[in-house]
Amino acid sequence: MIPNDILIVGGGIVGQITAIKLANAGAKVTVVDAGINAGSTANAGSLHVQMQSRFMRIYPDQVPNIEASLPLYLRAVEEWERIDAKYGPVEMIRKGGLMLAEDQKQLSFLEKKAKREAKKGVSVEILDRHALEQIAPWLGPHIIGAELCLNEGKVNPLVANRRLRAVADGLGVQFLQDRIQNLTVGKRVEAIGQTDTYQADRAVIAAAWGTGALVGNFGVTIPSVGEPLHMNITEACSARIDHLVQHAERSITLKQFKSGQIVIGGGWSANDRGLSQVPTVDPLSLLGNVSLAAQLVPTIGNLRIIRTWAGMNTTMDGASVIGPLPASDRLVMAVPGDAGYTLGPLVARLAANCLLGKADHSVIERYSPARFAN
Ligand SMILES: Cc1cc2nc3c(=O)[nH]c(=O)nc-3n(C[C@H](O)[C@H](O)[C@H](O)COP(=O)(O)OP(=O)(O)OC[C@H]3O[C@@H](n4cnc5c(N)ncnc54)[C@H](O)[C@@H]3O)c2cc1C
Repeated sequence: MIPNDILIVGGGIVGQITAIKLANAGAKVTVVDAGINAGSTANAGSLHVQMQSRFMRIYPDQVPNIEASLPLYLRAVEEWERIDAKYGPVEMIRKGGLMLAEDQKQLSFLEKKAKREAKKGVSVEILDRHALEQIAPWLGPHIIGAELCLNEGKVNPLVANRRLRAVADGLGVQFLQDRIQNLTVGKRVEAIGQTDTYQADRAVIAAAWGTGALVGNFGVTIPSVGEPLHMNITEACSARIDHLVQHAERSITLKQFKSGQIVIGGGWSANDRGLSQVPTVDPLSLLGNVSLAAQLVPTIGNLRIIRTWAGMNTTMDGASVIGPLPASDRLVMAVPGDAGYTLGPLVARLAANCLLGKADHSVIERYSPARFAN
């Protein structure tokens, strides 16, 4: 039976798509969002599948979780294809992602990584310089090879977010701005916000960095942490860069939007001002990030950066959190693991299915919030 009314806490990519799925099924849906620090409005639109070298370097203890999640990433990019077809276009291009090597040590790292990924069903191959020339002639001369992951791609988050919001509005989803401070569960869920109190039959927690604090009273300690990150975008240029580009050892992602502009990011830090304020740009990240981009793709050195910004990513234990809380199935968790924009639509579908009596237990078991039980 479909719950009568559903409250969704958090209106990023996960909250929006969960709302669409539940409203489509006939539920009355209200989304309450704090109106600040959504990763979904700050992100770069990379559709990641291969393990990011940055993540492996910074969070080595979480690598087993991300490696075990590789099949989820494969499905997540397919979910984006469905979103693109049904609600788009969202400027989705899926020509693969390149992770670049500048020396033999980096190439050996990629070779080993590719073998591990292939075992999980990821389409990866190692390209030498000659093979790279054929598909990415815009790369700098010092790049000796790369790992190509054919499953990867990109979308334009500005377009996707706008379209999805319009779909949700069209389905009658109500969007409210408030920050929920406390949740209680009896016969109904009650959510006390800074300005109002909300009641619903069930609630979906799609609050990214805000998740751990919201459900701490329900016997789980979810280690959701805000991670302030830096981004840049250039003016448009005539080069045609179809691939998502990363590096085997250094933090970078770059890709080109349909407009010709190049979006550069990949995990450079921003100034943390806490979760109630938006992080600010660190000039050292700006310089380091764009000069690395210009080294890898020399044409970028001739372009002007037209905007930089900082946004709040969320880290946990490297895996998503999906499904009902052990303490109450009235609270369903919907929090993507690393590269959460990639995973967002799939996590939303899996969470919505839990409320629609169609839970895909074989998939979500691994991501259950029960792993954080106190
Ligand atoms: C700069 C940057 C670049 C990124 N690039 C990429 C990328 O290229 N590819 C990729 O896959 N991922 C990327 N990410 C990660 C990705 O953006 C996020 O993981 C993803 O958007 C998370 O979506 P979400 O819907 O779970 O949460 P969010 O979009 O973060 O939304 C959560 C919402 O919950 C609200 N909230 C929190 N607590 C409460 C509360 N108590 N009450 C009410 N509301 C609350 C917040 O205000 C927020 O609006 C990037 C992140 C950043 C910051």
